Amino acid sequence: MLWTITLLAASAQSPGVQRKSVNPAIARVVEEVSEERIAAIMKRLEAFGTRNTFSETDHPARGIGAARRWIAEEFRGYGKRLEVRFDKHAVKKGGRVWRDVEVVNVVARLAGKLNPEREVVVSAHYDSLNRIPKPKPPEADPLDSSEEDNEPTSRADAPGVNDDGSGTAAVMELARVMSRYEWDNTILFIAFDAEEYGLVGSRHFAGQAKKDDRLIEAVLNNDIIGSEVAGNGRAANRAVNVYSNDPADSLSRQVARYVRETGGRYVPGMRVDAVFRADRFGRGGDHTSFDNAGFGAVRFTTPAEDYSKQHNPKDTFANASPGYTARVAQVNAAALAGLALAPAPPVVTRIGTVGPSKGRRLPNLSRGKSGYDARIRWTPGKAEADLAGFAIVMRATTAPFWEHEIYVGNVTEYVMKDVPIDDCVIGVKAVDKDGNESLVSAYAIAPRTDASVQ
Ligand SMILES: [Zn+2]
Repeated sequence: MLWTITLLAASAQSPGVQRKSVNPAIARVVEEVSEERIAAIMKRLEAFGTRNTFSETDHPARGIGAARRWIAEEFRGYGKRLEVRFDKHAVKKGGRVWRDVEVVNVVARLAGKLNPEREVVVSAHYDSLNRIPKPKPPEADPLDSSEEDNEPTSRADAPGVNDDGSGTAAVMELARVMSRYEWDNTILFIAFDAEEYGLVGSRHFAGQAKKDDRLIEAVLNNDIIGSEVAGNGRAANRAVNVYSNDPADSLSRQVARYVRETGGRYVPGMRVDAVFRADRFGRGGDHTSFDNAGFGAVRFTTPAEDYSKQHNPKDTFANASPGYTARVAQVNAAALAGLALAPAPPVVTRIGTVGPSKGRRLPNLSRGKSGYDARIRWTPGKAEADLAGFAIVMRATTAPFWEHEIYVGNVTEYVMKDVPIDDCVIGVKAVDKDGNESLVSAYAIAPRTDASVQ
């Protein structure tokens, strides 16, 4: 393709910038993730008997109340720099929520040194479920087991080690490791409540964040990262699935690409399999609450689920693989640390219908003076002292991942000769002096509807 050649000729590197190298600050936290600690947390979470949202809250050793008090205590024990709080919401009966209940997320905040307002979230749900089907009348459909007997379900043992003690353990271990160091941006470590009753805890949190106009740049949600052998015997202990909602250049998809890139660089023993889909068929997770609220969010999950050991008493530590959970936590650590050091993503406008601009604001991406070039403009996300410059990335419209990259220096406009903007995707990202890279801001075209075709 013509634009490939043009790019190669222009791909000058700036001498002062470390590009695509290993940042020791990131490599260190990846290294420090401890399988032993993760295993100990998974076991401890199992020992609460149940963490069902409707289970006991006052018992000292059993039920969701004891579990969340312990999680908060652990967070506090990791050091004074973590600000720990319970994010509480009174939720009325409705939907799967079968009686009024207080839903309580556990949030640990590690304030960023340079940009406390810019936030990255790593999350999981600490509630568990042992689904006890309602006794059915004889004429009922025998295959319909969706109705639970709520009262017994809230009392039964629900070890929930894989779903989602594994994700919770990863989040807690990341809080321990990362809170020993300072980061440019704020990191929120969150254990959500009531995921099993319709993403209730995360929905409240994400809704409030949207209302407050919070600058959450990315959400890494971990749910079911504790098994490496599927129910049919298929093993997948060196790969993790990362789900992201459509379209091809959604914020969530850019987060997925970022995770795949940094994971591949810092944890080469793990393969990050990006899955271009919101989630598994008929299944949900807390990342969706954030995606719905307009934030970029992905879900980490094992490709080797064992359905016979989910939402029942068999979801135990004995049936879990903490070594696998630790490897997934390492992939999280790489992406999280990268995002916590990254400069702000550049601001670009989405492109409307392309045509003569007739006094309208010029789009950030145009065909330039010649009509046949790619003229790319952007605004820095934030003035940052250690910003080195920007890199432009490109791929074919049918390609899943960025194929070409060109570092253009500290400018806010760049022209690529003879690059037709109509048959490729172009994005731009910020790069700091240590080589830390922001998420890509892509020049995406909004899907056309009947109303926009004239
Ligand atoms: Zn789950």
